[in-house]
Amino acid sequence: MSGGILFTTRPPKGGTPTQRSTSGRTTSHIEFNMSATGKVFLIGAGPGDPGLVTVRARELIEKADVIVYDYLANPKLLDWASKDAERIYVGKSAGRHSIPQDEIEELLVERAHKGQQVVRLKGGDPFVFGRGGEEISELEIDKIDYEIVPGVTAALAAAAYAGIPLSHRDYSSSITFLTGHENPEKTSLSIDFRTYGKNAGTLCIYMGIGQLTRIVGELKEGGMSGEMPVAIIEWATLSRQRSISATLDTVSDELERSGLGAPAIVIIGEVVAHRSKAEWFEGRPLFGKRIVVTRAREQAGQLTQMLEDNGAEVIELPFIQVEPDFQQQLVSEVLAGIAVYEWIIFTSANGVQAFFDIFYKAYDDIRCLGPMRIAAVGAATAAEIEKHKLKVDFLPSKANARILADELIEQEGMESVQVLVITGNQNREDLVTRLETEGRAIVDTLPLYKTSKTDLSKDAAAARYREIGADAVLFTSSSTVKSFVEQKAALSLSESARQPVFGSIGPMTTKTLKDLNLPLGFEAPKSSLDHFVVETITHLNKQS
Ligand code: SAH
Repeated sequence: MSGGILFTTRPPKGGTPTQRSTSGRTTSHIEFNMSATGKVFLIGAGPGDPGLVTVRARELIEKADVIVYDYLANPKLLDWASKDAERIYVGKSAGRHSIPQDEIEELLVERAHKGQQVVRLKGGDPFVFGRGGEEISELEIDKIDYEIVPGVTAALAAAAYAGIPLSHRDYSSSITFLTGHENPEKTSLSIDFRTYGKNAGTLCIYMGIGQLTRIVGELKEGGMSGEMPVAIIEWATLSRQRSISATLDTVSDELERSGLGAPAIVIIGEVVAHRSKAEWFEGRPLFGKRIVVTRAREQAGQLTQMLEDNGAEVIELPFIQVEPDFQQQLVSEVLAGIAVYEWIIFTSANGVQAFFDIFYKAYDDIRCLGPMRIAAVGAATAAEIEKHKLKVDFLPSKANARILADELIEQEGMESVQVLVITGNQNREDLVTRLETEGRAIVDTLPLYKTSKTDLSKDAAAARYREIGADAVLFTSSSTVKSFVEQKAALSLSESARQPVFGSIGPMTTKTLKDLNLPLGFEAPKSSLDHFVVETITHLNKQS
């Protein structure tokens, strides 16, 4: 490993002060510019949308040994952490109170003393009603190094995602952050809101939902008009965001009617009346829809991103796992003779990824592929190939391996042509046999990966699906349909859960759905992620 660089920012795992000399350096030839004790990074996790954390926050999460996070820090941020990083949840959850503040502080100190890089992730900004001040006082007492990374606080995020300008040249020139509770554990109201009754600017109230009626009463007593516009935004920036607009006089009733609850920000002021009509966030076509994506973790990203960009809440169920799986000897032989092939056929996007991972390890010039032509079984596979700035020469009329073989033979004439087929562990004999027998081609098959089932009974995303269901489950391959059926027991929905429709990316997948007696809700007109997303939007909006 060219590890010196890594080690300047991160000590080896489990390193303790005793393993190093008193200068804080190791006695080995590798030099550390670290002190023997670790460091605590108090990081603002932002309001929820993972895209709203800072670049610095992400860097530190990636390097952390331990991550201590609470209720409002989106657990998706933990996906950036290394596999070995320890994740410690200290927030409240069903049936359990949050871990007391002093225990959290002790935990941070203890881990830093062990020499670990400790990330303390707090919702929003750590210094805005986040008890960050208390945590750093404790670190200072114990002489522990720390760094603070600010975050987007909930009031700013809620206003932006609801389209409410917090300040406005004509209506509001001050912004006040207030809390309904002084401390989340206390229920008594400690601010006298009458003082703010004559406030001409914008009030943003954190933790105010439980006390709203009293807050409203006090503001009116202090002189605020009952006509004053009010907005409440719950779970701001997430796909479950909901919001209402009202006035001081109507807001308590509106709140009850809507069923909104914590966490929510209450915004009071003239600016609320200037809320943009466009609803850039809540108005997106899949907003409020919950969609299950049935792909292996490694690939889920693209479809998930496309759905989320359109406003959906996505549950990623990892039905299948894709892992590299190949015979080294065969790979070496094929790569050594790569230039002899006249065609290379990719049967899946996974195959494309696995092939290029290996190819780039062997060669550092794309021209080493030689003059071969490229065929892909469907648009998603083709898109993966095109990422390498390679044009796909042949795409069959339907995303189907057998049709690919037939059309290739018919249109190109494959007699004595040298072909390389990149596959997984699933059987592609049909394709290969047809090319060999009907087309008289000379075919080499290179299996590079294997797909296997994930046990969903232990998966957190599956638990969420069982509890709340979804509007649609999107199947991107036959194997995901099969896994869905096989794992039925781990996916049975609770009574109150939404019942999903089943969407298919193309005819093969649809056939498998039908064979396994799952009702088809809709099918993408072409087998590509783009078409699949558009069809999902059309179908789900037709329904509601
Ligand atoms: N440090 C946090 C605030 C923690 S106090 C920050 O800077 O945002 C917890 C309160 O923050 C919640 O009760 C709620 O009022 C508000 N809050 C946090 N995240 C929120 C979100 N996504 N949407 C609406 N309000 C949120």
